Amino acid sequence: MKVLVINAGSSSLKYQLYDMTDETVLAKGLVERIGMDSSILTHKPTGKEEVTEVSEILEHTTAIRKVLEKLTDKEHGVLSSVDEIQAVGHRVVHGGETFKGSALVTPEVKAEIRRLFDLAPLHNPPAIMGINAAEVNMPGVPNVVAFDTAFHQTMEEKVYLYPIPKVLYKKHRIRRYGAHGTSHQYVSRVAAEFLNRPIEELKIITCHIGNGASLTAVKGGVSVDTSMGLTPLEGLMMGTRSGDLDPTVVTFVMNKEELSISEVNSMLNKHSGLLAISGSSSDMRDITDGWEAGKPNETLAFEMYEYRLRKYIGAYAAAMNGVDVIVFTAGVGENSAIVREKTCENLSYLGVELDKELNKVRSGEPRRISTPNSKVEVLVIPTNEELMIARDTLQIVQESK
Ligand code: AMP
Repeated sequence: MKVLVINAGSSSLKYQLYDMTDETVLAKGLVERIGMDSSILTHKPTGKEEVTEVSEILEHTTAIRKVLEKLTDKEHGVLSSVDEIQAVGHRVVHGGETFKGSALVTPEVKAEIRRLFDLAPLHNPPAIMGINAAEVNMPGVPNVVAFDTAFHQTMEEKVYLYPIPKVLYKKHRIRRYGAHGTSHQYVSRVAAEFLNRPIEELKIITCHIGNGASLTAVKGGVSVDTSMGLTPLEGLMMGTRSGDLDPTVVTFVMNKEELSISEVNSMLNKHSGLLAISGSSSDMRDITDGWEAGKPNETLAFEMYEYRLRKYIGAYAAAMNGVDVIVFTAGVGENSAIVREKTCENLSYLGVELDKELNKVRSGEPRRISTPNSKVEVLVIPTNEELMIARDTLQIVQESK
């Protein structure tokens, strides 16, 4: 079965086409600047040359039509006909409390995703545009939605509620939902497979640290706590997001600086984190370069980032009364040996012992970076949210037949 995975943003659309008989990627690509002049389509067929095309793509329906043209193109294509695509999987950021796993798209499912627009106003509307565009271009082909929040729906009430008046939860569904669920679920499963141990027996802390960053405590294969909350702002210090702070900072700053709601939101989401403290960059590569060169602002940014990450690992070891496995994934987690080294250096009280040489190896494959004596297995596992979505899509479509 061939499955197309789509990740639709407001002005972009990423795609990957899978052959699920062996889970290989046949092609992948990206449409950028949808709705603007000179939209760009970058198409990478596996084993063939990448092509880029600039044209006017005003909305997502045209974007998918262009993608399908590329997938079936004589020169750059990988399919003889669009009919070979048997299902489409969509990434959706917010599934609220309704979706505890991926779901087959029906009119009711779409209505529910729309009902959740106010919880993810930037992300859920484009997902609906992506689904509609797939339905128009591939009539009769089943669509499946995979939610970033779904994996965390196993959190208990004591974990997901904020200690604020409960009426706010009842009226506005204000609670902790988490994010990056597809990634946390994927890497925790791969970790258990890699160690050849049943996931039901394991206490795993998954560190998804990229531009956005979150940690999850995975106990017995389910999420028992995660660091993101109502929105992806809570938790760790990130590239441009603050992570945890005293909520009074918000009202205090709004008052003193006469900021509007959108201005303060922008400050916390786009102008904080590594960028704010270093004053130079949100990219961990620049921060570590600056730290190695002894630049004070980058050094402080690096130390704050690592300190906050390590505190959360300690918190989740406490939440699960221990930890068997720590997994590093995403841009920083997979690539930054120094972030992993510094974080693990002060986890010796948990019995963590890093093999510094193994930690420096780059492979793109799941690998162990702890010593044989380490009481906690430390792994680097490349995340693959698209593959997880493709697997869910295949399973749900097969079950629905
Ligand atoms: P992601 O959001 O998972 O795509 O991660 C993107 C982020 O990963 C970038 O903004 C960088 O901060 C970080 N990153 C990528 N490569 C490296 C690297 N070699 N060393 C340190 N950080 C990296």
